Amino acid sequence: MADRFRVACMVGDGIGPEIVPAARRVVDHALVGASAAPFDWVDLPMGAEAFAQLGYAIPPENYDVLAECDAWLVGPHDSASYPQTWHDGPERVPGAELRGRYDLYANIRPSRNRAGVPSIVSGVDLVIVRENTEGLYSDRNMYTGSGEFMPTEDVALTVGLFTRRAIRRIATAAFELAAARRRHVTLVHKSNVMPKAFGLFLEECRALADEHPDIELDDFLFDSMAAHLIRRPQAFDVIVTENLFGDTLSDLTGELVGALGMSASLNAGDRYAMAQAAHGSAPDIAGQGLANPIGIVVSAAMLLQWLGRRGDDAATTAAGDAIEAAVDRVLEAGTRTRDLGGSAGTAELTDALVAELAATS
Ligand code: NAD
Repeated sequence: MADRFRVACMVGDGIGPEIVPAARRVVDHALVGASAAPFDWVDLPMGAEAFAQLGYAIPPENYDVLAECDAWLVGPHDSASYPQTWHDGPERVPGAELRGRYDLYANIRPSRNRAGVPSIVSGVDLVIVRENTEGLYSDRNMYTGSGEFMPTEDVALTVGLFTRRAIRRIATAAFELAAARRRHVTLVHKSNVMPKAFGLFLEECRALADEHPDIELDDFLFDSMAAHLIRRPQAFDVIVTENLFGDTLSDLTGELVGALGMSASLNAGDRYAMAQAAHGSAPDIAGQGLANPIGIVVSAAMLLQWLGRRGDDAATTAAGDAIEAAVDRVLEAGTRTRDLGGSAGTAELTDALVAELAATS
């Protein structure tokens, strides 16, 4: 058996304390079922409760602990749960801090139809590859200080950052992913109004397309892509784009194939990866046992596959594959949460996933 992976677990805000333990339970069962080494879980505080008790959303002493882990399973952040003093302070939102500090530059967000899940469209199987460390999200793109500032009380300026290095590596991630899929990369940009920033995206993607003549590259403006994704989402395979555009389009594609609550998301760099579902803290349903755990469960499955590939550990990869397959079978059999038109709660769906893993291992 391979060495045990050390994985930090931070539940976060809103529905986080409901869905993160659910995902962890599914992961533990899948690892046993695949005869993989169990994880060494490291529980760490993060979120509004951590701020209330310890004065920080992520206590500073935890950064060294996080750096000693192989990966992290993380719940959502809820801006509204923090007092104004926190918003006025120096801390970035946890997601931004973790992605920036540990250089988790590739945010991989797949959306595909699953049998048994009612959806607006069918036949969709695509992945959004979102640049995660700069772009139009001003809180992501400064070494120190804020990328937003107000020279007067009536004027707000916000900084966008686009570097050739970051663009080259996210485009490379997209081409590598496409090579293992349907060999089609679509760049989403806005070069008509930001020709310099998105000119870099176009140049780097075209250079990679020259190096990979077997991979098709096309490109669309961000606004028209919103229409194309509704009209003919089946036409897309791997979509690469900057931070804000990727965040926006992935909510759209998640909802197209079912609901945002089942949208998975892996934040990966060269050294670390973090599973954190695409959705937010869902304050409207928090604490009621209604949250759909599938987004974070599939994010965790992607994390297992990433760890397995990186550590050359076939059993951990197989555990991730087993979770993916169990999600398909449970949904097809009709166990669905309310956001997917069903009546199951978080616990019932998690129980069904665990039972499915036990039945098939
Ligand atoms: P949201 O994603 O939390 O919720 C949007 C809608 O989707 C709501 O109706 C919610 O009930 C539903 N939903 C989301 N996840 C669900 C799940 N797992 N199961 C069932 N339904 C689910 O977006 P919002 O309401 O705009 O944002 C709430 C908070 O989340 C904000 O403070 C925002 O900043 C934060 N947020 C955090 C992250 C993150 O930490 N990664 C991402 C997005 C938003």
